[in-house]
Amino acid sequence: MKNDKKVNTSGPTVSGMFSPNRDNLLDPITDTAMDFERCVQCGYCRSVCRVYNATYNEMDYAGGRMRILKSLARKEIKFDKDGIIDSIFRCMLCGNCAEVCPVEIDTVAVFQKFRKDAIKIGVLPKRLGQMNDAIMEKKNPFMEDESRFRWVKDCPEGKRALERGEELFKQIRSGDPSSVVPRKVAYFIGCTAGYRNTELAIASSKILEKLGIDFIMMPEEQCCGSVLYRTGLEDNTIGLIHHNTDLIRESGVTDVVFSCSGCYSTLALEYPRILKEELGFNLYHLVEYIPMMLKEKGLKVKHPKYTKENPLVVTYHDPCHLGRYMKKYDEPRELLAMMEGIKLVEMKHIKEMSHCCGAGGGVKALYGDIAGDIARDRLDETQRCVIQLRSDRMKEAEETDADYMVSACVFCKNNLSQAAKEDEAALEVMDIIEILQHYTFYK
Ligand code: SF4
Ligand code: SF4
Repeated sequence: MKNDKKVNTSGPTVSGMFSPNRDNLLDPITDTAMDFERCVQCGYCRSVCRVYNATYNEMDYAGGRMRILKSLARKEIKFDKDGIIDSIFRCMLCGNCAEVCPVEIDTVAVFQKFRKDAIKIGVLPKRLGQMNDAIMEKKNPFMEDESRFRWVKDCPEGKRALERGEELFKQIRSGDPSSVVPRKVAYFIGCTAGYRNTELAIASSKILEKLGIDFIMMPEEQCCGSVLYRTGLEDNTIGLIHHNTDLIRESGVTDVVFSCSGCYSTLALEYPRILKEELGFNLYHLVEYIPMMLKEKGLKVKHPKYTKENPLVVTYHDPCHLGRYMKKYDEPRELLAMMEGIKLVEMKHIKEMSHCCGAGGGVKALYGDIAGDIARDRLDETQRCVIQLRSDRMKEAEETDADYMVSACVFCKNNLSQAAKEDEAALEVMDIIEILQHYTFYK
C-alpha cells in the first residue's frame, strides 16, 4: 500500500494498451523522464490539450503520448519515425496536462526527454537542424551576423545602458579593480527582442531608466538556448549556458531582469539544473521587478489619457513560461492594477488553466524566419494546428469586449497578433511593457 496516490481508476475507460492498475500508481520512479510508466490512462489530460482539441488525434495529448512511450519501452512497437515524429513535436510543452494529471506526472519533462531521445536516434526535423546550426554559428536563431543591439541607435536609454555595460567590462578586464564602478542590474534582452521585436527592448529600456535604475546591457550576450533546450537539443545548449552565466557573474550584477518569459524561465529553471549549481544572482521578469521597484521607490504611474472614468479595457493572457513554468500569476496582475486607467477583464481560461497561445515548445520557431522550403515538411500539419490554436485564444479574448489583449511574452504577442491580423479582429495584442512606457511615474 505504500506510496499509493488517491486516484479513482474506475471511471470511464479510455482506450489504451495498459489498463490502470496498482503498479502504475506506485512510486518511486526516481527518474521523472520515466514518469510515463505511472500514467493510468485516465484521459483527464485530453480535454485540456489545445493540440488535441485542434487535431483530435489520439497521439497528440499527454496520455496518448504516454502510451507510445510505454509501448516503445516494452518494445511492443518500433520507433516508426513517420508515425511518431508528429506526436513528438506537435506539443507546445505548455504544461496544462500536468496541471490536471491526478498522479502528478511531470509531463513536460517526459516529453522533453522523448524529444532528446528521438533526436539522438536521428529524428531531427530539417527546420530544427537549420535553427540549431544558426544558433551554434551565429549565437542567435535568425542567422543574424550583426549585433543584437542595433536598435539602440533609436533609443538613447538603451544606448546609455549598452555603453555602461561596455565600460563596466572594460574596467573589469583592465586588471585594475579600483577602476570598476559596480552595477547592480543587467537587462538580458534575448534574441527575439534584440532582432525582431525591438519595440519591446526599447520600451523596457525606457521604463528602467524612468525608474532611475542605472542598468547595463551586456554586449557579449548570446542566445539563452531556450529553443534548443525545448526541442530536444539540450546537449548543444551547454556552451551558451556557460557563456551567459560566466558573463553575468563577471559583470558582478546582483539582479538580472528579462522582458522575455522564455529567456527568464530558461535561466531560472534550466541553467541551475544543467550546471548543477546555484547561479549566484537574482532573476526577475520585468512584470514582477517593476512593481517591486515602484513600491520601493514610492512611485505611482498615470497615463495622459486613460483614467478610472475613461479606462483602457484589457484582458491578460498568461504566458506558459511565466505562468505554469514560473508560477507568476499575481505579479503581472498587480502591475496592471498599479497602472491607473487600466481595467482588467479576465478571460475564462486563466492562470494555471490558461490556454497556450500556440507558439510554445519550439513549434512556432519551426515556422519562423529561418530560410528553407518546408512545404513538404512532415510538420506541415502542425502549422495548420497552430493557426487553429491561436485563433481559438483570440476568440476567447474578444468575448471579454476588451480593447487590448496584453501579455508578457514576445512569442505570445507575435503569435496572437498574427492571428488577430489574419482574422481582422477588433482586438489588438500588446505587451504590458509597451503600454507602460507611455505612463508617467510620479511620487
Ligand atoms: S504540454 Fe500542452 S500541448 Fe503538450 S500534451 Fe500537454 S496540454 Fe497538450
Ligand atoms: S492525466 Fe496523467 S495519468 Fe491521466 S492520462 Fe494524462 S498523463 Fe496519464
